[in-house]
Amino acid sequence: MAPNKKAIDIRNKDDLIVIGGGGGFIGGSLARYFTEQGFTRIRAIDKKPLYDWYQVTPGVESLCMDLSEKEHAIRACEGAIEVYNLAADMGGMGFIERFRVECLRSILINTHMIEAAYNAGADRYFFSSSACVYNADLQKDPNVRALKESDAYPALSERGYGWEKLLSEMFCQEYWAERGLKTAIPRFHNVFGPHGTWDGGREKAPAALCRKVIEAKDTGDLTIDIWGDGVQTRSFMYIDECVEGIDMIMHCDDLIATPINLGSSELIAINDLVSLAEDIGGVKLERTHNLDAPRGVAGRNSDNTFIKEVLGWEPCLPFREGLERTYTWIEQQYNDRKAGKRTVS
Ligand code: NAD
Repeated sequence: MAPNKKAIDIRNKDDLIVIGGGGGFIGGSLARYFTEQGFTRIRAIDKKPLYDWYQVTPGVESLCMDLSEKEHAIRACEGAIEVYNLAADMGGMGFIERFRVECLRSILINTHMIEAAYNAGADRYFFSSSACVYNADLQKDPNVRALKESDAYPALSERGYGWEKLLSEMFCQEYWAERGLKTAIPRFHNVFGPHGTWDGGREKAPAALCRKVIEAKDTGDLTIDIWGDGVQTRSFMYIDECVEGIDMIMHCDDLIATPINLGSSELIAINDLVSLAEDIGGVKLERTHNLDAPRGVAGRNSDNTFIKEVLGWEPCLPFREGLERTYTWIEQQYNDRKAGKRTVS
């Protein structure tokens, strides 16, 4: 099998790379990654004020603009060779089950960005889809059959967030079919790691549970509240593997306009995630289960047959290792916040 192509193999170091959502978790990590690879012209855009960006990488042109506005999308894509759209109004289950309108309105971002990328003459366009596109009926059992790409249809996506992703995927497919714009459409399964949101309502399970363990240790209140019965299962991909996967999928000619899972296939029950976080923190907590809290589908895992077939690769960092790194980072953030320093949240 030929080695997978990456940006570094086919681009000049001064080609302009545009990253929508660059103030967020994955977009910020991608901007840092390309900088570390030696790319010198990276433009990151986010609607948040710069002050609230999770990472600002020196040398990256960092612009505050709302990409759901057509004029801003056009400005963002000017001169771009590659456009990565990682901007979306999103969060964990607590957010996407409550704010469906906001999630649906992210359709405006992709609609304007893909058109602007096309008009700017960009060579490739990337859209971050999600495992939330998959048919909900296939996710009712915690002992899930892992989801394969064809399981998105017949469509019964997560209302709001999932439907927005599914329709935006369709845009990417038709811009290729009708207009010849090369598009990449990975469906991310949960991504976690340092520099992601860990408090405030948008955080996902690994960050939330690490924070709760850290909080319990700090306050001496040795209890932990878990959303749902904790039997629900998920898989979690570490951020570094997500970024590497983005690079490989974007530059693979066999994957143009082709939805593909990008996720870990290590299935974890939430109760086991709590045990791991307790173990890392060196503490045992009394558990309560909030059965009224949002819990999402009963189970979800990534079937990685297709990505292994095409790329000969899949995310494989053991979950525990990624969680240890994440826990350490959140603990630092927690202590920094207590000390009155600025943090991500
Ligand atoms: P994030 O919330 O950390 O980053 C998204 C960024 O987009 C935020 O900084 C937000 O301010 C910005 N944004 C929102 N609306 C905008 C607008 N109108 N104009 C400009 N910027 C805007 O989320 P993330 O985890 O980095 O996710 C990145 C992408 O990956 C999103 O499309 C998300 O749906 C997708 N995704 C993420 C996960 C995950 O587990 N993190 C899973 C599946 C899919």
